[in-house]
Amino acid sequence: MIFFIILFLSCVTIKINLCFSSIPSSLKTLPIDGHFNFQQVEHAAKDFGNRYSFLPLAVLYPKSVSDVATTVKHIWRLGGGSELRVAARGHGHSLQGQAQAHQGVVINMESLQGPKMQVHAGNFSYVDVSGGELWINILRESLKHGLAPKSWTDYLHLTVGGTLSNAGISGQAFRHGPQISNVYQLEVVTGKGEVVNCSEKQNSDLFHSVLGGLGQFGIITRARISLEPAPEMVKWIRVLYTDFITFARDQEKLISGESAFDYIEGFVIINRTGLLNNWRSSFSPQDPVQASQFKSDGRTLFCLELAKYFNPEEMALVNQEIKSSLSQLNHIPSTLFISHVPYIEFLDRVHISEIKLRSRGLWEVPHPWLNLLIPRSKIHSFAQQVFGNILTDTSSGPILIYPLNKSKWDNRTSVVTPEEDVFYLVAFLSSAVPSSTESDGLEQVLIRNQRILDFCEIAGLGVKQYLPHYSTQAEWKSHFGSHWEAFIQRKSTYDPLAILAPGQRIFQKPV
Ligand code: FAD
Repeated sequence: MIFFIILFLSCVTIKINLCFSSIPSSLKTLPIDGHFNFQQVEHAAKDFGNRYSFLPLAVLYPKSVSDVATTVKHIWRLGGGSELRVAARGHGHSLQGQAQAHQGVVINMESLQGPKMQVHAGNFSYVDVSGGELWINILRESLKHGLAPKSWTDYLHLTVGGTLSNAGISGQAFRHGPQISNVYQLEVVTGKGEVVNCSEKQNSDLFHSVLGGLGQFGIITRARISLEPAPEMVKWIRVLYTDFITFARDQEKLISGESAFDYIEGFVIINRTGLLNNWRSSFSPQDPVQASQFKSDGRTLFCLELAKYFNPEEMALVNQEIKSSLSQLNHIPSTLFISHVPYIEFLDRVHISEIKLRSRGLWEVPHPWLNLLIPRSKIHSFAQQVFGNILTDTSSGPILIYPLNKSKWDNRTSVVTPEEDVFYLVAFLSSAVPSSTESDGLEQVLIRNQRILDFCEIAGLGVKQYLPHYSTQAEWKSHFGSHWEAFIQRKSTYDPLAILAPGQRIFQKPV
């Protein structure tokens, strides 16, 4: 009897093994232009967050949209019983394994070759790009035509598909909305392997689902991005405040109505500054002596960061406009720091710091980031508790804080934001350097992040995470709130077997 049980169990094991071992060979026989790699897959188990690592079975290097569609369709046809999942990987700059697929297929979107990037100049200028294109390349190409996208992220070495799956926020969003508000059209491969074109007018539900959709509804293979005339130069300005209320009032004044500025952000400085604190910019004021003379005397400071775009011939007029706008602000008068830089240098500012940090081994460290969207009515309680009590310094990395206008966000997209006309992005961009002091170690930063989240929860601030990360479906449900049912409905329409973007850990099983 025991013999038969053992025989039966070994048959089952062999069958399971055969089933798993047949997956690579079934992928190998797919008729594609690109190729699969089943050996060198370790890099696809890494990301910028440097904390989560899930080894995939294979990495697909697609050459065409049909390679992506053929692969997804093949996995779709394996049916709900198959464990095989697919993660599109942009530039792998996620924080918690969102672009990874444990024993699944990772699609290296940067190798996707579509028709060449094409800029169309006219009343509605736009550029058609591959979903795996880096924003820095789009900037370089569109500048050749005197044009540029309107809305950015602070860092440009990210892909179109990666940022459009989240939102894409930076200092231009107060005026133009996030990047997902500046897209005309998408080409998407759904979880069934269908290639669908979508826009406001055509397959609009898929279009809105995918924007901010955390990769759940389709893989973006092409996008049509809106462009505007590009300036040549930027006046980059920083002013300081010691009082949060005044700082926030000025920020909100600047984002309302016709602002003189093209970019508005801000950051917090508690107790000290250092290389990590400053990594996100390469700001060097025209008068470094004056800047270095300012002493914070241990006070918490709030830095308002502004930019005005201009062409050299407009210099005099622009100077006048800036002077008049700055005169209406209430910053510490002696703290006006100005720098003039070429437009591309301003937009690519974080990359300059990346090069410096890489050379010191400070780039590829764990990044326990926390990004929050906070309703305007709650920002003062938040600031009081977090900057006044929970955080004692900002030595582990910058803390960005700036307001956004909800009217510039399309509520038909999948992204969820607080229910107020104005909400703040607060980004804790910590680096956990292994050799750092105990207070900057990974564990300590994670504890601090949790304290911040707990405070938000207990105080009922109505905060939403940006680049959200949760472990349970109940938490996801609470994140999406009244949008959860629609999110599930969209999943069951476009990816019913829950094949796509498993690294987000929203759906473990077919819907
Ligand atoms: P990945 O990390 O590769 O992918 C992210 C998610 O999107 C994954 O779930 C993946 O499966 C999915 N995905 C990737 N490509 C596609 C596709 N073509 N179609 C469908 N799904 C896809 N964000 C901001 O909004 N503003 C900022 O200023 C900003 N600054 C940053 C600075 C740095 C240094 C870093 C590391 C990140 C920053 N981010 C910012 C966050 C960034 O937008 C996200 O991490 C983004 O996901 C990274 O893009 P990626 O191309 O590396 O995507």
